[in-house]
Amino acid sequence: MARQLSTAQLETKLLLSDPAQCYHLEFSVPEIDAFPFKPGQFVSAVATDAAGKQQTRAYSIASAPRQNRFELCVNRVEGGFFSNLLCDLEPGQTVQFHGPHGLFTLREPLTDCIFIATGTGIAPMRAFAQHLFPESGDCCRDRQVWLVYGTRYETEMYYQDYFEKLAEKHPNFHYLCSLSRAQEAWTGLRGYVQDHVAEILKSRSNGFHGAAPPTAEPAAFDIHAYICGLNNMVSSNRDRLVEEGWHKKQVVFERYD
Ligand SMILES: Cc1cc2nc3c(=O)[nH]c(=O)nc-3n(C[C@H](O)[C@H](O)[C@H](O)COP(=O)(O)OP(=O)(O)OC[C@H]3O[C@@H](n4cnc5c(N)ncnc54)[C@H](O)[C@@H]3O)c2cc1C
Repeated sequence: MARQLSTAQLETKLLLSDPAQCYHLEFSVPEIDAFPFKPGQFVSAVATDAAGKQQTRAYSIASAPRQNRFELCVNRVEGGFFSNLLCDLEPGQTVQFHGPHGLFTLREPLTDCIFIATGTGIAPMRAFAQHLFPESGDCCRDRQVWLVYGTRYETEMYYQDYFEKLAEKHPNFHYLCSLSRAQEAWTGLRGYVQDHVAEILKSRSNGFHGAAPPTAEPAAFDIHAYICGLNNMVSSNRDRLVEEGWHKKQVVFERYD
């Protein structure tokens, strides 16, 4: 059965990185007053290509729910059909989509969280952060939240200002951005995200992060990891956490490829 399509209109377009050709795109859905979704979900954008074939691609929503709006963070992929279509859109132009979809959402009850992302995998993490730390107040004062963001170069640190300000304002939000191909002058973190995740785990004082001792009750966890990005990164982080004794249910992930 064909899915019901909605029309999204581009309101604002912001170039996040010229070298990486990454754009922040803000859409409204004029036909409705509210577009409800869970932070972490994606929309499926739909368009017809030059050969007349319908193409569909998933894009994580990079914002928390707000009226009839949603925001995306899209990287131009060389020769790619949909990423170029979206990055070439100008304000006022429209694209069709269906959704929201997906199970990459915060598990309840909320525990401490480690958000692990590379590249545009930062999109759903921004949605989580906006939801957990709204402009006024804080939904998770008694929880520790780490964002470990890996990218190659300084020019590819998307939403750096937003996350740095959030970390300044909320002592329970910790922002770690690590570059894998940093220039010599870079004084921040270097290397792969999994190494910094390992440091976080070591630093947690009570040391309990696995399943509760075996009982008839469902396992209780005191921390979850949420991982988003390309398959290699997701798998290596996931494998490492499972090797450390984490239960598979503690590791929530979204793969882009
Ligand atoms: C759940 C989900 C959420 C996603 N969210 C986002 C998002 O928030 N932002 C975003 O930019 N992308 C996201 N993606 C990836 C997106 O769906 C597309 O795959 C991507 O934009 C490329 O589509 P395209 O039509 O431009 O390329 P295509 O025409 O499909 O492919 C062209 C070439 O690029 C290669 N390629 C395909 N995808 C990628 C990629 N991601 N990186 C590098 N090379 C690629 C292909 O192997 C092919 O050789 C998400 C994917 C999934 C599954």
